[in-house]
Formats: sequence, structure tokens, C-alpha cells
Amino acid sequence: MVKIKTNSPEETYSFGYRLGKLLKSGDILCLNGDLGAGKTTLTQSIARGLGVEDYVTSPTFTLINEYEGRYPVYHFDVYRIDDIDEMYNLGFEEYIYSEGVTIIEWASIIEDILPLERLDITIKRGKEIDDREIIIEAKGNRYEEIVKELIK
Ligand code: ADP
Ligand code: MG
Repeated sequence: MVKIKTNSPEETYSFGYRLGKLLKSGDILCLNGDLGAGKTTLTQSIARGLGVEDYVTSPTFTLINEYEGRYPVYHFDVYRIDDIDEMYNLGFEEYIYSEGVTIIEWASIIEDILPLERLDITIKRGKEIDDREIIIEAKGNRYEEIVKELIK
């Protein structure tokens, strides 16, 4: 487990941008943290690092938005999901096992259907209004590699 502290949205952004540069097709990122923690901010920067030029917004009502970067980027926000079946209905399994990078906000809500190998990222607020702690947990070799590169 690796913990990184940021003191501004920009710092979180530059962390996400670096992470995005390291990602490859097939990678799965699971983001957790309270409302306003910075999951979407982090997703925007990861997407930018992946070469996405479109403005990334939270797919809170649609559950998924797709972007084109170096790879397809699938951005899920499962905050408003009522039932896990909704995920199957919208083709969650097809997305995560197809070409592309998957980023899931509020991933813990669908813990039961998440792949075992993935990068878990939790964002917590700190003392000051712009303080955040980003906790990164690699599950599987591929993700250990990413974290190793990230903290170099
Ligand atoms: P979430 O998707 O987790 O609900 P958002 O990314 O939408 O959160 O919102 C995070 C808010 O917190 C943004 O307005 C962002 O500018 C602000 N913020 C302040 N400090 C930070 C920081 N260190 N890292 C990320 N976001 C921050
Ligand atoms: Mg969000």
C-alpha cells in the first residue's frame, strides 16, 4: 500500500496524469472516497494522461461514459446503482474484458463483481480544505508494476 498526500486539486491532477501515462489496455482502476473527495478530478487527470482530449464528466446518471484516448477509456460511476444486475445489463463484463482502460467511481458498491486483479485507489480528506490522502493498493502483479513506476 502506498499513500500520497496532495494539498491542491492541481497536485492530485498531476498525480493522475502520471498514472494515466503508465496505463495500458486491460487495466482496471477502482476509485473510492466520499462525495467531493476527488474521484472525478482524479479520473479527469488519468484520462488526460491516457490521451483523452474530451472533457470528462461524472456519468452519475448514465453509469458509464466512453472516451477515446490511446485506448478506449470506460468511466463508470456506480453511485446511483440500485441493483448489481444493472451492471450486467449495461455490459459491465464486456467492458472490463475488452480493449480499453476501465475507471470505476464508487467501486466498493459493486465489490462483489469486481475483478480480483485491479488497482484500488481511495481518496480521503485531510485537515485543511484542499488536503487529500490518496491510498493506492495494487492487487496483482500488473498493478504492483504500475505502483513501482509511479513512486520511482
Ligand atoms: P468526487 O468525484 O469524489 O465526488 P470531485 O472530483 O467531483 O469529487 O470533487 C472534488 C472537489 O474537491 C473538486 O471541486 C476539487 O477541486 C476539490 N479539491 C480540493 N482539493 C483537492 C485535492 N487535493 N485533490 C482533489 N480535489 C480537490
Ligand atoms: Mg465523482
